[in-house]
Amino acid sequence: MTDPKRPLFHWFVDCSTGKELVLALYTLPCRYARCVFCSLPSLAEGGDRVRPQDIDAQVDWILSHYDKTQLDQVTKVSVYTAASTLDQKCLPTRSLMYLLLKVCDLPALKLLSLETRPEYVEDWELRMLSEVLGEGIQVEAAIGYETHDPHLRNTVLKKGLTEKSLRMLMERLSSHQGALKAYVMLKPHHSLTEQGGVDEAIHGLDHLHGLGQEFGVPVSIHLNPTYIAEGCALTDELVAAGYEPPELTSVIRVAEESIQRGMPLYAGLDDEGLALKGGTFQSTGLDAERAVAAILSFNRHQDVARMKREAGA
Ligand code: SF4
Repeated sequence: MTDPKRPLFHWFVDCSTGKELVLALYTLPCRYARCVFCSLPSLAEGGDRVRPQDIDAQVDWILSHYDKTQLDQVTKVSVYTAASTLDQKCLPTRSLMYLLLKVCDLPALKLLSLETRPEYVEDWELRMLSEVLGEGIQVEAAIGYETHDPHLRNTVLKKGLTEKSLRMLMERLSSHQGALKAYVMLKPHHSLTEQGGVDEAIHGLDHLHGLGQEFGVPVSIHLNPTYIAEGCALTDELVAAGYEPPELTSVIRVAEESIQRGMPLYAGLDDEGLALKGGTFQSTGLDAERAVAAILSFNRHQDVARMKREAGA
């Protein structure tokens, strides 16, 4: 049985602005739970036993792993659950407040990133977050955009993200000087060829870039080369269709397009242990170890030419 006072995981990692503290909290599972590519809700199984006090204890437990010198370097705090951080049924407002009060005085903090479905981002919450964090610390909503084609996104993958809810989110972020991080899946379905997957991702970049310009909201991209995750609704279908996960050369191409549009990009190469054996990205024509190292390093420096040189691409 999972201990309700322990988080899912936590990381202290390099990011493009310095050090990032990642808190992945154990809460009630995602109440939407319909996205066919997602196995996250299973990570939070039994989480309905978690009380707000338990979540406070998870926050304290995570922070106890880092000393003052480390915490003083944190420029970005990212909060994840296996649900939505702004769904108050999963992460109660008092627990979010507890977390905010623990991190708002970190001297180098510039960005608080909250992973959530857009429909949970409310006006009063953004106002409260800005007021507690104070000037100079921006709030970022990190949402699963996944893919550009609405049919693929909402009918096939069952994401349930409409243009209307995306625009409403942008409007809210705009009025609170917030930022958007969009998770984009590279080649999210077996119906896409390798080139089709790249084109689809680039259409998504254009769409998100356009929204960012229209609403005056900074947009960054988190690109996930799709992997075959264990235990999700799409797993058997991908395996039966002989789905081949995307190539690292495609990751590099999409990263280049994103930087050309002025949108920082982070390539998520870690499947967090959720992928089937052999179900992650491919590296045809590249030295896999070298290419992975080059992309991970790009996540920090954002220099495309250097990434290509280091990857031998
Ligand atoms: S992708 Fe997000 S919204 Fe969809 S089921 Fe997974 S946790 Fe829920």
